[in-house]
Amino acid sequence: MEWLAARTHDGAEPIGWGELRDFTLAGKSLPLKDRVKGIWKPAGFSAALSITTTYRPEGSERPYDDGVYDHDFLLRYKWNGTDPAEATNRALRAAMEQRVPLIWFVGVAKGLFQPHFPVYVVGEEPTAHQFLVSADAAALGGDSPFEEQLRRYADVTAKHRLFQGIFRSQVLRAYSERCAVCNLGHLPLLDAAHIIPDRDEQGIASVVNGMAMCKIHHAAFDSNLLGVRPDLVVQIRADLLHEIDGPMLRYGLQEMHGRPLMSVPRMRSLRPREDLLEKAWERFKAG
Ligand SMILES: [Zn+2]
Repeated sequence: MEWLAARTHDGAEPIGWGELRDFTLAGKSLPLKDRVKGIWKPAGFSAALSITTTYRPEGSERPYDDGVYDHDFLLRYKWNGTDPAEATNRALRAAMEQRVPLIWFVGVAKGLFQPHFPVYVVGEEPTAHQFLVSADAAALGGDSPFEEQLRRYADVTAKHRLFQGIFRSQVLRAYSERCAVCNLGHLPLLDAAHIIPDRDEQGIASVVNGMAMCKIHHAAFDSNLLGVRPDLVVQIRADLLHEIDGPMLRYGLQEMHGRPLMSVPRMRSLRPREDLLEKAWERFKAG
């Protein structure tokens, strides 16, 4: 996990299957996940080491509708099949009993995974064939009402972080790591902007509610200095167009007015959803 933390900036950046396969510890090969199976227990381990959620190219459906994102504050991970005694299910149950930390790999593209660690298996729902996973070790023990509250809060923030990390990776990849407005292609200067803010009910952490934007254009978009028309043409707030100032205003904002977005996902299903764009466009006009 230390290696993974260094390699992925604490789980902020995704990592490729090749690197996970080729990982070695003390000179010995120790793949960090299986190529196919979701639950991975390396030979000689007493419990599972990692779990993987496979990448699913998304259409307009909300990601994680498969039960991962549920009404309470824990994440769900499905059994392998329906047999509780199946070997990998037993390995994951062992991780719960031994209270050992695991790595959760969430596929964000083919062969590319966003790692979340440590996570803990804190319970099981046998009738639904699934385990309960928490990103917080505190969920393992203690049952006073106070601890219960604390756990809930920790899980909400951990889950929020988790989904925002996945959102960022998916959006930046969909836009080939370029600002939709100006095409800037330097990762440290790029954000995944929400079309509808995530505090709003419609502000889903889905690639169809996102656009990759550089820091300036992201901030301009959020503060309604820059809008994106539903036909994907950039508009700059009228009063800014007549202002005279330095090169950032002139080239960075004024010259973007009336231009189509420079970077748009090739796959139609990854492009901004029209109703979300419409709503953001109304907000811009009102602003
Ligand atoms: Zn930009």
